Amino acid sequence: MARFIFITGGVVSSLGKGLMAASLAALLQARGFRVRIRKFDPYLNVDPGTMSPYQHGEVYVTDDGAETDLDLGHYERFTGVAARQSDNVTSGRIYQQIITKERRGDYLGATVQVIPHVTDAIKEFAQADTDDLDFVLCEIGGTVGDIESLPFIEAIRQLRNEIGRENSVSVHVTLVPYIAAAGELKTKPTQHSVRELASLGVQPDILLCRCEKPLPDSERAKIAQFCNVRKEAVIPALDADSIYSVPVQYHGEGLDSEVLRAFGIHDAPDPDLTRWYDIMDRKRHPEGEVTIGVVGKYVSLPDAYKSLNEALVHGGMANRVKVNIRWLDAEMFEKGEEDLVAKLEPMHGILVPGGFGERGSEGKIASVKFARERGVPFLGICLGMQMACIEAARNTSGIADASSTEFGPTDEPVVGLITEWMSDEGLQKRGADTDLGGTMRLGAYEAKLSPNSHVASIYGANDISERHRHRYEVNGAYRDRLEKGGLAFSGLSPDGMLPEIVERPDHPWFIGVQFHPELKSKPFDPHPLFKGFVEAAVKQSRLV
Ligand code: GLN
Repeated sequence: MARFIFITGGVVSSLGKGLMAASLAALLQARGFRVRIRKFDPYLNVDPGTMSPYQHGEVYVTDDGAETDLDLGHYERFTGVAARQSDNVTSGRIYQQIITKERRGDYLGATVQVIPHVTDAIKEFAQADTDDLDFVLCEIGGTVGDIESLPFIEAIRQLRNEIGRENSVSVHVTLVPYIAAAGELKTKPTQHSVRELASLGVQPDILLCRCEKPLPDSERAKIAQFCNVRKEAVIPALDADSIYSVPVQYHGEGLDSEVLRAFGIHDAPDPDLTRWYDIMDRKRHPEGEVTIGVVGKYVSLPDAYKSLNEALVHGGMANRVKVNIRWLDAEMFEKGEEDLVAKLEPMHGILVPGGFGERGSEGKIASVKFARERGVPFLGICLGMQMACIEAARNTSGIADASSTEFGPTDEPVVGLITEWMSDEGLQKRGADTDLGGTMRLGAYEAKLSPNSHVASIYGANDISERHRHRYEVNGAYRDRLEKGGLAFSGLSPDGMLPEIVERPDHPWFIGVQFHPELKSKPFDPHPLFKGFVEAAVKQSRLV
């Protein structure tokens, strides 16, 4: 049976629980254990798919087509274990299932209640499909004391009791703030948070204390005494220079050894951290640097492009260069508030990322034009590829009114709403009036690459599988005209119907992809498109 590690947070949000879960899983994996990480989100949205990136950051998409919390991206990047639909659940999804069952009459006249029905559903979710694992790490979103996380804490309490203490460990992540006026680190918020958690029946075994100054031994002892844990199980967690240093840092503080000790495991092999040392070295000692301009809409919140940001870092590690990212607001280029040429000229690569809606689209199209005309490496992702096709239609194929039906009715729908496509589950159909939640072309789809194309040489393959999240598609009816203008359709869906990749053979590096390659990039296994894009930017940096 798998052992369970429950991770809760206290005092404030944004303490990096997701990163801590990912790092702990990576450390256990480095000792040879099989791990999986799950995230429980207490909010009532069924999934984050319909939430604004400003509310929730990026929506991370899994191979099996789930729209999930961005922490699942960290989990996958740190462990290489592909996340699934069953690794993220929200209160909304649990209530949706329970209410559907209640309406069907499945409860046979019973009163449906938070305890036991909601808590049972949470426990089932935690335990589903875990037979082939050594450790399941369950991260609870939010902060202990929130009204909406109560059923989750209660479910943990019950589960710990059912599976036995030897099979369950509770890790609580807290903040030990530094009060400058007093010149001291304060342990009281941690004491209160642990008291709150304990009052709900969950005594933590390990405390991970985020602090900006080293935690003196006396304070560590004080926390241990008040919170009923071993002093060695009070793990100080100072800010790291990079997220990729966190596993090694936490190992140095004894996190994984304390977790194993709490399970009574004393014979685990030492972790093999070679690959972590390698990426830390690549991150800390770059041999050059490049600057990439990302022309997007949600640029004031980098979390909205979390995986993209990381994939560019991975591309940099692969080429041993530091990647400086300049987040450029596409809308500013439209309003004439910022001079596009002045902003884009210093860039060694231009990337137009995914996005939704018309706002900023003309600024994105103008940026594609700049990259095409100046021979600057260009990568267009999802909406970015659609903008590259509209730019090509207007400026190299003479279709002046080219647009996307996403932006309103148009006579030249170079990008249009897709209403039918094939998936592994058969023919999918959608209409303009379909619900917005969970109805896009989502998850992994295969594509066939043209032999001898630039992308085929980048991937070193002709068949690929990548993750999608979009409602609109480049309209195949325009293919001939766009190709005559110099834009090659070098990747298509296996049935040849959907354009998946476009490129410009007459340009040093110009690629647009309908999918999101950033979702599959890992520090140990940088995505070939990001590796290639950064390599092209390095070449460009030698020219300008
Ligand atoms: N808005 C576009 C669509 O729905 C692109 C989506 C995206 O970039 N993820 O097709």
